[in-house]
Amino acid sequence: MIGTDFLIVGQGIAGTCLAHALLQRGAKVMVVDLPTQNASSVVAGGICNPITGKHLSLTWEAENIFSILAPFYESLEKLLGKQFFFPLPFYRRFHTIEAQNQLAVRLANPDFAKFVEEVNDNRYQYWIDTPLNGWQTRLSGYVQVGELLGAFRACLQGQASFREQRFDYKALQITEEKITWHDIEARKIVFCEGLHAQENPFFPNLPFTPNKGEWIRIRIEEPHTCPAILKQGIFFLSLGKGVYQVGATYHQTSLDTETSEAGKDELLTQLREWLKVPFEVIEQRAGIRPATRNRRPIVGLHEQHKNVAILNGLGSKGVSLAPFLATQLAETLLG
Ligand SMILES: Cc1cc2nc3c(=O)[nH]c(=O)nc-3n(C[C@H](O)[C@H](O)[C@H](O)COP(=O)(O)OP(=O)(O)OC[C@H]3O[C@@H](n4cnc5c(N)ncnc54)[C@H](O)[C@@H]3O)c2cc1C
Repeated sequence: MIGTDFLIVGQGIAGTCLAHALLQRGAKVMVVDLPTQNASSVVAGGICNPITGKHLSLTWEAENIFSILAPFYESLEKLLGKQFFFPLPFYRRFHTIEAQNQLAVRLANPDFAKFVEEVNDNRYQYWIDTPLNGWQTRLSGYVQVGELLGAFRACLQGQASFREQRFDYKALQITEEKITWHDIEARKIVFCEGLHAQENPFFPNLPFTPNKGEWIRIRIEEPHTCPAILKQGIFFLSLGKGVYQVGATYHQTSLDTETSEAGKDELLTQLREWLKVPFEVIEQRAGIRPATRNRRPIVGLHEQHKNVAILNGLGSKGVSLAPFLATQLAETLLG
């Protein structure tokens, strides 16, 4: 038997952040994951942004989430010796005087204002016209999620703490003191399987409302690199060397992970409305977000088995939610 403190099922952004939070606190982990090409985390745009939606709402728990986010990813960068988190402003232009006034009202709230900077010049005019100026968020940015997950997996493999294997629920035995799965014995197990949790018999009827997202990558032949994530319904993010990511669609009707012409057309139609420079499409990807009915994550202990826990339901905000929730859950699990 191999003994460990925590067995973690799934190594998307949820499982990765939880494993890191537990390791940081001196615990031992074993992670089981069977990677899939279109896993939500692998296709994630990677963007984190504290202010979302048409009503310019501060995201849920913004203060807690964004105070922990950068230090958390920086600690992963230190461990893995590579940069994955890129702080970048998230810029929106004003379309009307009314929208300017709406922001001015929101800025009276100091909790909101600390995340916002008004932009009263046309610094992004190479890419977009901004006759009424605009505003951008602080503490936003993006994470190269696929690269981060790959590097963290290699690190776990180096410590013999990773199994590339499908987790079969039938082989799990739970007693009050421990859990056993094949040759692994652990104090506790945490499920971080994203949408695959719909097959998990220990947490039946999770309130998922999955939705499909698609993005495209485009190439722009030009000497400048856009120093912000531009947001006009869709986002426009420089990945370097003239490559930009544009996304994402949001649909609950078809729930496959195939890319579609309709998805590409939807993105191109929106992009052509404002992007001033010519481009060519070089890639398209699709995936499904593990969203929930009330748009809140699913985190905590099993009702009967106190050594069984879950971290899931990260929806469209896995990159911002995972560090905060993983830290909270790790502290709960360690008592
Ligand atoms: C197109 C698109 C764009 C997105 N853009 C953003 C964005 O810009 N910012 C943002 O914050 N979020 C974004 N998201 C959402 C984000 O991707 C999710 O919130 C996040 O990836 C969920 O992570 P997770 O770890 O819970 O699940 P997943 O990424 O699905 O990871 C679960 C892992 O568990 C493994 N697994 C499951 N069951 C088993 C089993 N039985 N045995 C072994 N392994 C198993 C899976 O193979 C997988 O590797 C986007 C999503 C999509 C689809």
